[in-house]
Amino acid sequence: MSKHADGGRRTRVLVVEDEESFVEALTIGLQREGFDVTAVRDGLDALHAFRPGEFDVVLLDLMLPRLSGLDVLRSLREVSDVPIIIVSAKGEEVDMVLLLEIGADDYVTKPYRLRELVARIRAVLRRREVRDADEDDESVIERGPIRLDVDARRCFVAGAEVKLRKKEFALLHLLLENPGRVLTREVLIDRVWGSDYVGDTKTLDVHIKRLRGLIERNPKSPEFITTVRGVGYRFETTAPTG
Ligand code: CA
Repeated sequence: MSKHADGGRRTRVLVVEDEESFVEALTIGLQREGFDVTAVRDGLDALHAFRPGEFDVVLLDLMLPRLSGLDVLRSLREVSDVPIIIVSAKGEEVDMVLLLEIGADDYVTKPYRLRELVARIRAVLRRREVRDADEDDESVIERGPIRLDVDARRCFVAGAEVKLRKKEFALLHLLLENPGRVLTREVLIDRVWGSDYVGDTKTLDVHIKRLRGLIERNPKSPEFITTVRGVGYRFETTAPTG
């Protein structure tokens, strides 16, 4: 099955990856999923290959010859807001908070399953479509079974109303506005509490826990609000595949 970014055009992926064996498997796998794949082997080639509007998403390895993934990310962000998914190797020291601040959309750690990667790609593309479709503030946001009526400050899960406190509502609103995107703890705290944030860093987690209790089928194994360890939280747009 293939999914297209717009109309009948195939989604174009720029893969920046220097491990040869990995590139081949990835290219074949992504093509099988209906993507157009261009692969480059180092950071400098990535900048040469990239033209704004020519790619729908970039998969960017961090450890690259000639120019690091971090530098590539910085350079791409100067010219484009193309969705960029960071790929890091297991055990690699990665400052995800910094990468997200610079403008990475999401990240995966090698080794990952193709299925997970494809889900992440589709999530960032969907998020982009959502953002492009409603540059104005939405007054009603619907994601899966969750429906948020922003003006009326009401929240429904599978049709049943759940009562949210002010900060919980603001937190859920922010997460729903950024489906598929990792939101760092710093961003969540800043946007929801700002200078009101008092107490220890647990306050955010307490609110997330309560939200999960209200919207998740199984709060101990959340499907919607997932934890990105050491970084923050993400509202998932894809059903977990087990
Ligand atoms: Ca590498």
